[in-house]
Amino acid sequence: MSKAYRIGEIIGIPIKVDLSFLIVLPLFAWFFSIQSEPFGFAGIQSEIMKYILSLLTALLLFASVLIHELAHSYFALRFGGSIKEIRLHLLGGVAAMRKEVHEPLKVIMIVAAGPLSSIVLGVMLLFLGFALNPVSLKDGNSLFLVVFILGYVNIFLGLFNLIPAFPMDGGRVLRAFLSIYMDYVKATEKAVLIGKIFAVLLGILGLFTDLWLLLIALYIYGNANREEQLVKMTYSRY
Ligand SMILES: [Zn+2]
Repeated sequence: MSKAYRIGEIIGIPIKVDLSFLIVLPLFAWFFSIQSEPFGFAGIQSEIMKYILSLLTALLLFASVLIHELAHSYFALRFGGSIKEIRLHLLGGVAAMRKEVHEPLKVIMIVAAGPLSSIVLGVMLLFLGFALNPVSLKDGNSLFLVVFILGYVNIFLGLFNLIPAFPMDGGRVLRAFLSIYMDYVKATEKAVLIGKIFAVLLGILGLFTDLWLLLIALYIYGNANREEQLVKMTYSRY
């Protein structure tokens, strides 16, 4: 495991940031500084202000990921699980379980809590944004832009995570749902298969439209495979 720095503790869970996170944070800030309205601050005159707002947005973006992971963790704790730590890294965050919960309905609530918290937070931020600046996007003040970007990204984060494929939360919800009707390994195989079919379709779409989609498809396919092997390895011992 790569090096991680502890930055604090919330509801008894240590919060750590990975080394990769420290590299990607300035990259995100730079990304926001070159995007034009309403997804960035390229249009802002003052250079200093542009970078401060970009960095603030990048930091709050990772705070949003932290809230998503805390939502998972809160329900996991409520249902008798225990969390070792929450790690923020290159591609987001992960709440590492020390003791897992296995009852399907509880798992569904724990997993669904993440994306739902992101969507609710996103909608609230968009409302707050429009309350700050009810006129129009174009006349936006810079604070409005920060809130708008965060609201938008949180909703995207929530919806993207509902895709029924590993490693997204949707894949885990699907497996938990299937495991009501079949054993855990079979449920994993079925969920992985659905994830792979999704990845192949996305990959084909990516070939003809946007190569980024192809990359995401490869990532999903690889993770689906890994999840299947992991579960088979763990459960073949019994
Ligand atoms: Zn999640």
